[in-house]
Amino acid sequence: METSNAPRSGGGTDMAMFATAETQPPDVSVEQAADIAGRVFGVTGAITELGSQQDRNFRIDADDGRYVLKIANPAVPEVWLESQNAAMEHLARAGLPVPRPQRSRGGASLEHARIGDRDLAVRLLTFLDGTPLSSFGYLAPAVRARIGGLAAAACRAFADFDAPGLHRRLEWDLRHGEAVVASFAPHVADPARRERVVSVTAAACERLARVQDDLRIAPIHGDVTGDNVVGAIGADRRAWPCGLIDFGDMSRSWVAAELAVACAALLHQVGRDPLGWLPAVSAFDAIVPLDGADVQALWPLVVLRGATLVAADEKQLAVDPRNGYVATNRDLDWAIFEAAASVPWALAEAAIRAAVALPDPAPAPAPKFRPVIAGLAAEHVAIADLSTTSEALDEGRWLEPGVEDAVFAAAGEVALARYGEHRLSRAGIHGADEPATCALHAEVAVAAGRGLAAPADGAVVEAVRGRLVIQCDGATVLVDGIDPAVRAGDQVAGGDRVGAVAASGRLRVQLCVVPDADPPAFATPSAAAVWRRICPDPSPVLGLDCAAPPVDAARVFARRDHVFARVQPHFYAEPPQIERGWRHHLIDTTGRVYLDMVNNVTVVGHAHPGVARAISRQARLLNTNSRFNYSAVADFCERLAGLAPDGLDTVLLVNSGTEATDLALRLARAHTGRQIVVAMREAYHGWSMAADAISTSVADNPRALETRPAWVRLVDSPNPYSGTHRGPDSGPAYVRDALAVIAGLAERGERPAAFISETVHGNAGGILLPAGYLEAVYGAVRAAGGVCIADEIQVGYGRLGHHFWGFLEQGVAPDVITIAKALGNGHPMGAVITRREIAESFAAEGSLFSSTGGNPVSCRAGLAVIDAIESEGLQQNARVVGEHLLARLRELAGRHELIGAVHGIGLYASVELVRSRETREPATEVAEAICERMRELGVVVQPTGDHLNMLKVKPPLCITRESADFFVDQLELVLRTGW
Ligand code: PMP
Repeated sequence: METSNAPRSGGGTDMAMFATAETQPPDVSVEQAADIAGRVFGVTGAITELGSQQDRNFRIDADDGRYVLKIANPAVPEVWLESQNAAMEHLARAGLPVPRPQRSRGGASLEHARIGDRDLAVRLLTFLDGTPLSSFGYLAPAVRARIGGLAAAACRAFADFDAPGLHRRLEWDLRHGEAVVASFAPHVADPARRERVVSVTAAACERLARVQDDLRIAPIHGDVTGDNVVGAIGADRRAWPCGLIDFGDMSRSWVAAELAVACAALLHQVGRDPLGWLPAVSAFDAIVPLDGADVQALWPLVVLRGATLVAADEKQLAVDPRNGYVATNRDLDWAIFEAAASVPWALAEAAIRAAVALPDPAPAPAPKFRPVIAGLAAEHVAIADLSTTSEALDEGRWLEPGVEDAVFAAAGEVALARYGEHRLSRAGIHGADEPATCALHAEVAVAAGRGLAAPADGAVVEAVRGRLVIQCDGATVLVDGIDPAVRAGDQVAGGDRVGAVAASGRLRVQLCVVPDADPPAFATPSAAAVWRRICPDPSPVLGLDCAAPPVDAARVFARRDHVFARVQPHFYAEPPQIERGWRHHLIDTTGRVYLDMVNNVTVVGHAHPGVARAISRQARLLNTNSRFNYSAVADFCERLAGLAPDGLDTVLLVNSGTEATDLALRLARAHTGRQIVVAMREAYHGWSMAADAISTSVADNPRALETRPAWVRLVDSPNPYSGTHRGPDSGPAYVRDALAVIAGLAERGERPAAFISETVHGNAGGILLPAGYLEAVYGAVRAAGGVCIADEIQVGYGRLGHHFWGFLEQGVAPDVITIAKALGNGHPMGAVITRREIAESFAAEGSLFSSTGGNPVSCRAGLAVIDAIESEGLQQNARVVGEHLLARLRELAGRHELIGAVHGIGLYASVELVRSRETREPATEVAEAICERMRELGVVVQPTGDHLNMLKVKPPLCITRESADFFVDQLELVLRTGW
């Protein structure tokens, strides 16, 4: 690779100088193409035409493989075609996935064929299977990285390649970008758009000019875009790049341009993240390291690429208004241009620098600041805490309009909102885009009229009502909320009076160490780290420690990982740090608010004030154990028994669902004197030895089915969509099979102690049991002398909307109910409700004592939960919102093949994802990828079921219709655009 002064073309360039004149493709019919392929290359097979801007390309499916017959536009010199062939051979030898030129019968890889009166150059290449990645609306970060890696691999393999076709003047060579835009921009019809293209290009070229002499020049592919990267659909149904095609734009150019073209192409496929192209940069850098000049040039080149795309489109449409290819790309190219132009230069460059781990350029030494507000002593400054864990924002106050003013006012006369704080007050619910929460300034509430001083010697660059900007040596100081007493252009000395605090009484002070950066007041979480490098902590300007404690989810997770046993799984590859919840929303420490579709435990919503107050009050009174006599246990057990069917009048209190399961099994065994338990496949009942023995889900334990103890017998999980029996009429077959298992026991002289199952099969995805299932099975079990246990740990307690308990959906009553999760809204509680004689049987095994089961704090929590369910009408809400949600999901299923079935009732549902509706094969990896993308869009949803291919839908029961709609809308977006 060499470094050289690039041939920048001046204004008024004659575009005819460029090597690729746009012309119509040559006229060649499919029949003629088939004839050429057979006659010249000896290849025959089904033939179809492929699109091309200026050539004619045909795909041929021959017996020995697939080929592309390329018939070149006669305007393209043959030496270029030969060069392209040589380039493909070269990259193929280096192991890159590129098409390979094939020899003709005469042994040449470039041949000629006469069509009409023209002698056309023809080539045959191998066809790379796959889909152009441009056909996907969204590409996941890992896929973007692979594209960056592919561009770099091509670039590296090209380093020792040369061919005559590389030495030409090509309009897509970004070294001529400025001239191309200058020449084509007049074709942009809309004056405002034209002016924008021209001015943005000028800004890009001005930045480029600073470093372009230092940019490396080498052979590049020059068009590593989604159109030219073909991908295969992986097991995860994501398209992974696996081939690079179309060498028509290769040239010797800046190495950085190879990456810039790839980044620009990604801009409309990164969802809503303005820095979403960074994975491609890091991956490129890992193979072809970027140097300081590349880092400075990259974003100007991306912008220039965007500008050349739109300028070329407009020019092409001006001369050829019916050019469908260009017309289709035009909106996309404008979107690319706008996306590129909208990223602030300073942000893009700093982000690239961070992505390739190059240190920031040594900053000019910051001046020695003196405080803008004299005499602001730390001990007199209260903190206006707007962070995500601020007590001042409890009980949903963060959502109230004017909350920041209220928090400042409550904090005290002189109060500080810290620099670097992710303000919860800036977050809102239902945000598919990241909110800008991170304060890049410090904000002080201080008396209006108080005098303000220049923090250092400098020049006033802006002084308008409310705002003063002083350029000091090495840093810019931005002050908002000031009535300036100086004018733009004034020189000030540190300590000079420059104005007074404006009537708002709130002063914002920001530092910026990158010239012309024009920083925002708040940054989005994903751009915050980069912006903080540009706008460092302004503490020296205030003479106060202004910085909020840093948030670092990765560090917290690493600490957890170090000490917390890894068999305890976690959600997400890079888990956000969730420190607050409110109703059916979860909030991470960067102020991102997620709709919570999975926390069925928090049945009445996160941070429920009634539950919190009850726990707090009782904790201040007494917390002890149920061997003592206190009212809370009596109150709670009465309420609980009152919720159960008649006859189920006796309560045992423990601390979890597992304990409830374990205890229920012990009760059944003590009561029957038998051991055998009949359970359901795809179930989870807990982690203790006994509960684990009947937990059969292979998602939780892949060896579950092989390792069950002999006393466990299984019936099928009755999924009418993908289970052993399928279809709406499959119910009786499941009933028959289950009865056969129970009958089979008797035939072997065995007798069951119990049958246990969830009453709607929650762990399998909220599968409703077939009509009459429990009636038949409970009948058979009871006839055999066994006890029927209903696990209501997930599905009970109002979640099903139409029914408070799941067994009511089946029209039966069990002998034992286990309940946990919802019982304490997250406070650890479990209960067994049964008939007195069954409970009494336990006496044979001694007494039952759980130190914390039934403690007064838990009982008060449990009472507050029941109060909330009743007083807030949550079961009713589960029915109304649940039915709306299910209807929308079913409607969605009608439009997306990926959804095989929607299961459930009320607010217990699942969306079953399948690879094919025919085979109903589970789409496990897709489900995981969709969940990751849904998180980007502000929704927490997770897979469940044996194959982890069902999106579980079991939010807190306070979810609103608007939130249900937000969930479905985001899911629809993901299904439409990809994951
Ligand atoms: N039964 C069912 C149906 C469950 O879903 C769970 C928890 N996932 C349990 C029992 C065990 O409850 P816990 O985690 O409270 O021990």
